[in-house]
This record gives sequence, C-alpha cells and structure tokens, in this order.
Amino acid sequence: MRPTTTTCRFQHGLRQLPMVWLCGLTLILLAGCHSAGSGNGISKLMGKRESDGGLPQRHSVAAEQLVVMSDLKLGAKHPLVEELKVLREQVHEKLQLPEDETGEKVTVYLFSNEMEYRKYIEETYPGLPFRRAYFIGTPDKLAVYTFWGDKIREDLRHEFTHGLLHASLQTVPLWLDEGLAEYFEVPGVEPGTVNNEYAVRLARAVQSGWRPDIRRLERLEKVEQMHRADYRESWAWVHFMLHSTPDGKQVLLDYLQSLHETSHPDLLSTSLVAALPEADARFLNYVATLNTYRDWLSTPSQEQFTGTKRRETVSRANAP
Ligand SMILES: [Zn+2]
Repeated sequence: MRPTTTTCRFQHGLRQLPMVWLCGLTLILLAGCHSAGSGNGISKLMGKRESDGGLPQRHSVAAEQLVVMSDLKLGAKHPLVEELKVLREQVHEKLQLPEDETGEKVTVYLFSNEMEYRKYIEETYPGLPFRRAYFIGTPDKLAVYTFWGDKIREDLRHEFTHGLLHASLQTVPLWLDEGLAEYFEVPGVEPGTVNNEYAVRLARAVQSGWRPDIRRLERLEKVEQMHRADYRESWAWVHFMLHSTPDGKQVLLDYLQSLHETSHPDLLSTSLVAALPEADARFLNYVATLNTYRDWLSTPSQEQFTGTKRRETVSRANAP
C-alpha cells in the first residue's frame, strides 16, 4: 500500500505547497508537459481552489483506477476506456509498480470541446498557459483535464501514465516522470513502440555532434527548464534502460522501487553507471539504432478512436 503521506506529490522542491504538480501538453508549440507548480504559476494556483463548477459530470465511467467524467457519453466499453485499462496493466507490469490495494483513482475530466475546457482551466487556474491536457495532483486527488480532440488518445495515455506513477510512488524526478509518460504515450501492442519522430531527430542530433547527459536531466527541477529536446532525451533514456540490456532494465526497476519507499531518492545515474560502465556510449549506440528499429511493433490507427487520422507530430517537434 502506498504510504499515507500526502507529501508524495509535493515535488520538485515544493513540498510545502498544497498544490504543486501539473502537467500539460501544448496545442501547438510544445511537446510534453509542464509543471506549473513552480515559478510564477504557483501563487496563482494556490489562490484559487478547484471548483466542481464547470467540470464535465453528466456521464461517468469507472474502471479500476480510472474514472472518466464527461458530458459526452463514452460507455464502459469505449475503445479509449478499454485502452486505458490495458495501459494501466502495461504500466504496472512493465515497471513492476507496487500494487496499491486501495488503488487510488485517477479521475479524467473529459470536456466535450476545447472551448469548455479552456473556460474551466482559465477560471479555475488563472495564469496557467494553455495546454491540451493537464495532470494535476493534489493531496486530495489525482486528476487529468483535457478535451475531445485529435490528440485525445496520446494525451490520455500520457497523462494517465503520470497519474498511475503518482498513485504508486512517493515522488518521481521530473525528467523520469516525463520520460515514462512519453514512453507509454506511444500506442502499441506492447509497450516500447518507438516514437518515430523522436528516433529520427535523435539520430540526426547524434550525427550533428549532440551528446546525451543524464546527469543534466537529473538537475532539471522546474518544467520551465525542460525543453523539447529534453523530453526526447528523457524518452530515449527510458527506452534504452527498458530495452537495451537486462542490467539497464533492472536499474530502472530498482530505482522505481526506491521511489515507492522514499521521497528522497538517490540519483538514478549513479546506479546506472555502476551497472553499465560506459552508459553514455552505449546510449549513443542505442539511439543510433532506434531509427531503424521503429517498425518492430505495430501502431494501431488513431481512426478507431476519433474518426480522424493520427496527425504527424511535426508540430510537436523541434530540432535538439
Ligand atoms: Zn507529461
């Protein structure tokens, strides 16, 4: 059972604050998530308590840890709901997350359209930049806010992953939190489907002389410090650890176990380098192969979920 302390969600050096962890996806410019629990956003967030007014509440679907509140009817058998149920199993199995007997719920507030979502976010969390989706963890609940749109599938996979991690672990370093969410965001029969865009861009970056630095990622505490290239690198380190060697995978699994047990973990890089000497060089070689590795698992079509084609993710890209 997850420790009863509620400080587990007080992350990124802001444990004294009552609401600290946010994550969102941009509509246009930026890939990944943002914690508004630091910097300029926090005082505004603290000044206004969340209200149920304006939240979707006409329909609800509950499935294990997932609760979906919406004004449009999804139904318990909707493919999105079914997919998130499978995702929960995959996240727990792949990461060997401790099963929480209480199974703290992650509530997804799914707005029918962008306008209603924008209105709610702007009124409830004034000052937050617009993002396609937010994960907000408070001592009271784990919640995802988003709206029905072309990216709903990957947004929900990404944010629900955050919710599952925070339901099981006392803390999650920012870079790892995002790396894991990016990893599980990509649909596939099995976890680990390569993000093609990331693979291409990373391979090009390596050719251009870019070099990885996991210790630099570990120093990032505020989301404002994380750029798109950092999301890509975080995703790649997660992919590398889970798929390159059994030792690398074990390092990550052990580290996640430590995050379950303590809110003050050591650095993952310390144990990674101990288990995998020349980890940076191995990572470089691995990244170089990802671009040719991408078709190893199939990616189901987005059409079955929204009736629209899965758009290319060029708008979420930026050269490292
Ligand atoms: Zn995120």
